[in-house]
Amino acid sequence: SLVITGATGNLGRLVIASLLDSGVPAGQIAAVVRNKEKAADLAERGVELRVADYGQPETLAGAFRAGDRVLLISGSEVGQRMAQHQAVIDAAKNAGVALLAYTGVLGGPEADFKLADEHKVTEQAILDSGLPYTFLRNGWYHENYTENLAPVLEHGAVLQSAGEGRVASASRADYAAAAAAVLTGEGHENATYELSGDDAWSFEEYAAELSRQTGKSIAYANVPGEQQLAVLTGAGLPQPFAEILVDVDAAIARGRLAVRTGDLARLIGRPTTPIADAVKQALAA
Ligand code: NDP
Repeated sequence: SLVITGATGNLGRLVIASLLDSGVPAGQIAAVVRNKEKAADLAERGVELRVADYGQPETLAGAFRAGDRVLLISGSEVGQRMAQHQAVIDAAKNAGVALLAYTGVLGGPEADFKLADEHKVTEQAILDSGLPYTFLRNGWYHENYTENLAPVLEHGAVLQSAGEGRVASASRADYAAAAAAVLTGEGHENATYELSGDDAWSFEEYAAELSRQTGKSIAYANVPGEQQLAVLTGAGLPQPFAEILVDVDAAIARGRLAVRTGDLARLIGRPTTPIADAVKQALAA
């Protein structure tokens, strides 16, 4: 089977949709989920459900079978993911899967921001497992920004601390299509892809695009990291998460998320989705 973990998340759902769209029969797809109810629609479409929690290794015993091609979608519980991902890798190894693809972060071992730490450890654990692997090092999603437009529209400001840094983001659906291409295609064993958008934009340009599409005046407020932290925590974000976001902006300022290799467009066989399209979609929603 083609096995997708994190299948009830945003990316996982899009990967399954992409597989089905490309003609893979639902019966060849298995979704690893921790909440069966949340996956009822997938079961209805004929996708096999395998219930397991990354945080409870014993539940992972039935998640994989010999010969499966597996996509491990990195978890969302930051700080716990090293142990969680290790448990998934161990289960995949015990089952004898044919391929373990993993959604890491752009730059891999060279990514020098906090959010990358758990991805680096996970990639190393996959190498240590000896399993055939594919590293899908994802750059930023457009949706990280376009799904959080409410405060931007309210204040007429894109408040970040990224300076002139540029972001080569792509849509979640683009990254999902790349993952689906790796699961269904040939020759991706032990390959590493640095995935990002064809275009890299600055927050100044992003604010200008928002202004253009809303008809309102929206400016980039480039503030020091400490001020961004105060704004984020003031808006109710937990301190550790706010610190991670500020740290990401510092990485953007250093150019870490502007890297463009063309790998994503090559894997999906078309140009990546422009950020303007994601803005349009978000404003219409
Ligand atoms: P989501 O938060 O929508 O999905 C995360 C998925 O992981 C969910 O299906 C969730 O299950 C599952 N999951 C989390 N913890 C566990 C666990 N302990 N056991 C089993 N499943 C678990 O994120 P996205 O789909 O948008 O993104 C996928 C991943 O990409 C994220 O988890 C994160 O690692 C990373 N990411 C990348 C970004 C980027 O810009 N490149 C931005 C944000 C995240 P459930 O549905 O039950 O909650």
